Amino acid sequence: FLEIDGLYKSFGQTDVLKGIDLAVEEGDFLVLVGPSGCGKSTLLNTIAGLESVTKGEIRIAGERVNELKPSERDIAMVFQSYALYPNMSVAKNLAFGLEMRGVPKEERDRAIQEVAEMLQIEKLLNRRPGQLSGGQRQRVAMGRALVRKPQVFLFDEPLSNLDAKLRVDMRMEIKRLHASLGTTIVYVTHDQIEAMTLASTIAILKDGILQQFGSPDEVYNNPSNLFVADFMGSPA
Ligand code: ATP
Ligand code: MG
Repeated sequence: FLEIDGLYKSFGQTDVLKGIDLAVEEGDFLVLVGPSGCGKSTLLNTIAGLESVTKGEIRIAGERVNELKPSERDIAMVFQSYALYPNMSVAKNLAFGLEMRGVPKEERDRAIQEVAEMLQIEKLLNRRPGQLSGGQRQRVAMGRALVRKPQVFLFDEPLSNLDAKLRVDMRMEIKRLHASLGTTIVYVTHDQIEAMTLASTIAILKDGILQQFGSPDEVYNNPSNLFVADFMGSPA
């Protein structure tokens, strides 16, 4: 459903992605892990269209998207630093993307209500981001991506700013959302436990090269090299 063929990305002389091949089935939950600086965010950004591709092809539902602008791709991304608009209410924050796309008010209101219920933020719709806790803000950021009902969701370490307890709660929330929506997700995290809990497939990236791609059970119990074993904390 989401297919990546021979993807290279360089910034000037620096080669960051060095030939990524990846195929994600519709409804899959792919978790992408790897050390800091290995190219995880860069990979997500190229899928979202926020970064151009140096070489290779990205396809969604069989269609080449390389030349499409971010807004033309049926994708929503949740970033590590969920920048909400501070001067807008939660409801406005949720509606903004739809408004930009010319979605009529009635339809916007319906979508907001639906997502607010799903994420249990109905009571917060009139507040401003500054009046929310970190976890509530994270829900709003997720809501903002959800209202668009994209075919593909990209998450770039969405929980890394939260404390341990909230992280576990939100992890379950995301799992539940995925189960009920069935959308295709690519999710970046540093956290091996998060990866094992959420993933239907795990991809391990090191220095811009995929080390392994498989089910959580496979990568944990059958690591393809020492790096993967070490990174996943596999039994010796
Ligand atoms: P982290 O886990 O710390 O978020 P990451 O795996 O997401 O790391 P990237 O942000 O994809 O890593 O960065 C990969 C490499 O590309 C890094 O060495 C980074 O310095 C470099 N890089 C990223 N963006 C740019 C840019 N716009 N120009 C030049 N180099 C960049
Ligand atoms: Mg990153």
